[in-house]
Amino acid sequence: MIPLNGGDLHIPWQKELARAFTTPEQLLDYLGLDAAPWQAGLAARRLFAMRVPRPFADKMEKGNPQDPLLRQVLPLAEEFAEVPGFVTDPLDEHDSALPGLLHKYRSRVLLVLRGGCAINCRYCFRRHFPYADNSPGMGGWQPAVDYIAGHPEINEVILSGGDPLMAKDEHIARLLDELESIPHLRRLRIHSRLPVVIPARLTNGLRDRLAQSRLRPVLVLHVNHANEIDDDLATRLQRWQRAGITLLNQSVLLAGVNDDADALEALSERLFDAGVLPYYLHQLDKVAGAAHFAVSDERARALMAQLLARLPGFLMPRLVREIGGEVSKTPLDLSLEPS
Ligand code: SF4
Repeated sequence: MIPLNGGDLHIPWQKELARAFTTPEQLLDYLGLDAAPWQAGLAARRLFAMRVPRPFADKMEKGNPQDPLLRQVLPLAEEFAEVPGFVTDPLDEHDSALPGLLHKYRSRVLLVLRGGCAINCRYCFRRHFPYADNSPGMGGWQPAVDYIAGHPEINEVILSGGDPLMAKDEHIARLLDELESIPHLRRLRIHSRLPVVIPARLTNGLRDRLAQSRLRPVLVLHVNHANEIDDDLATRLQRWQRAGITLLNQSVLLAGVNDDADALEALSERLFDAGVLPYYLHQLDKVAGAAHFAVSDERARALMAQLLARLPGFLMPRLVREIGGEVSKTPLDLSLEPS
């Protein structure tokens, strides 16, 4: 498939952001799909805006209405369903220590570097999150840095969002300067889906800055399907891994996307080829508007049992659920310890 950018894989990531698809009609047209059958659902983008960068759309199969990547981003009528148990803040995150800072695990804090993402995933547990109230904004992180400096039990800062890689490299480098001066910090973790949807976000400048930090850098990606890792992304990730950056992945188990053993096996294999270790497979957070993505715990466990028979232990993600107020993720596969 020839990408819309004519095969030029070096369009700057900010430009890719600016030319992302923001209406379902544009995306469906690009994929050669008739929008008419989807009409009832297209209004769901008013519940949660649609945003799909073109490099991600380029990984979708043209003419396939069931494409697993398309399903993650296309607004559907099911989002209007009110389903008991599915709420706007499933993890009870609206209470933060400071604007932009969540301190829910003893030794780790979550710093919301930037609200908003390069892509809007329809199943996102933060689709109702009030980023405007909780993002400190660029340079407005000093209270958060002071808080971290005053809590010696914190040894790891997790840059989160939205997507923290929406911040420019210079801003991340400035924050890193501040964090590196806090002696009790040992690790910097970045949770981002941006490189998956715009591989050019993996810039050499950011890689080199992270690689030379005294804080051990960890990049946790969010890939749900093997088709999300094309050769461009794989090559860039391999370079980051060779630079000494630990690469992990967390996925969400999603009905109609990756809820079969073949898809999950292919995902783990493809991740490892790209230098990334599978880390968590999350059960869906019960966020309003996403119930149609839910997979039962029974089926999730059955899938893990199938995977265990196919994959070596180090390619088995942990099946977990996040429960608001709990001090850690809750494993669902305790009886299935990998070898
Ligand atoms: S990239 Fe992550 S935070 Fe952003 S919309 Fe997708 S799931 Fe949500």
